[in-house]
Amino acid sequence: MPPASPETATRHDQHGRYPRAETVEDFAHNLAVVRQRMAAACLRAGRDPAQVRLLPVSKTIDEAHIRLAYQAGCRLLGENKVQEAHHKWEAMQDLGDLHWSVIGHLQTNKAKLVARFASEFQALDSLRLAETLDRRLQHEGRSLDVFVQVNSSDEDSKFGLPPSEVAGFIQALPQFTALRVRGLMTLALFSAEAERVRACFVRMRELRDRLRQDAPASVALDELSMGMSGDFEIAIEEGATVVRVGQAIFGARAVPDSHYWPGLVSAG
Ligand SMILES: *Cc1c(COP(=O)(O)O)cnc(C)c1O
Repeated sequence: MPPASPETATRHDQHGRYPRAETVEDFAHNLAVVRQRMAAACLRAGRDPAQVRLLPVSKTIDEAHIRLAYQAGCRLLGENKVQEAHHKWEAMQDLGDLHWSVIGHLQTNKAKLVARFASEFQALDSLRLAETLDRRLQHEGRSLDVFVQVNSSDEDSKFGLPPSEVAGFIQALPQFTALRVRGLMTLALFSAEAERVRACFVRMRELRDRLRQDAPASVALDELSMGMSGDFEIAIEEGATVVRVGQAIFGARAVPDSHYWPGLVSAG
């Protein structure tokens, strides 16, 4: 697949400036705008929009606002921190069809929490964590969709496995029968230079395609979770099947991103 639209720019200049959504109508509007941008990116790349899932990311957002997003149609929400996600899950038990995806780095000692309530975990990056999650899930009688997080930008600060280690890692996953491996997840380089961002996404697609050739039968590598508010259109052009979008739906966050992505250098 040649780069569909090499001129597509990042939107990192908008970072921190999105207005806060305060009503159901605001959420409906923001979701429609994001979906329309997703559809346009699909069109440029000759892809079917039905193959790309929008995962709204609600980190730092309070319960009242999450309930508005729910009323606007959100049924699966991404959270970076497991404790925050667990609190929200507990607080919104009355919304029986609201599900949670944990998308941030997880310490092994918190695997127990994820096993209890999450529907999806996108930041699997060690065998020790896989083993602990699997054990806790067996205990709960649950299973979990997981994505292997890959460091596609070679930045020391990023979580995720180096691309060269993913093949070996994946070979070891079938023993953990409560984990349903769906694909790979990454955070691209946080840069205003679109071509450097695009290179991360291309690298992920090529890695996924290569890994597929000799992945164990029980390991599905169909999914590529990549792209956020500032770069999801480029990610879709390069094959993303899940985009994780926070600010463009909920509005700018008060908490600085360095809280979630240690060592983050701002886009210039
Ligand atoms: C916060 C977050 C996102 C969404 O970022 P936005 O800029 O708000 O769209 C995506 N992925 C991860 C892992 C995150 O922590």
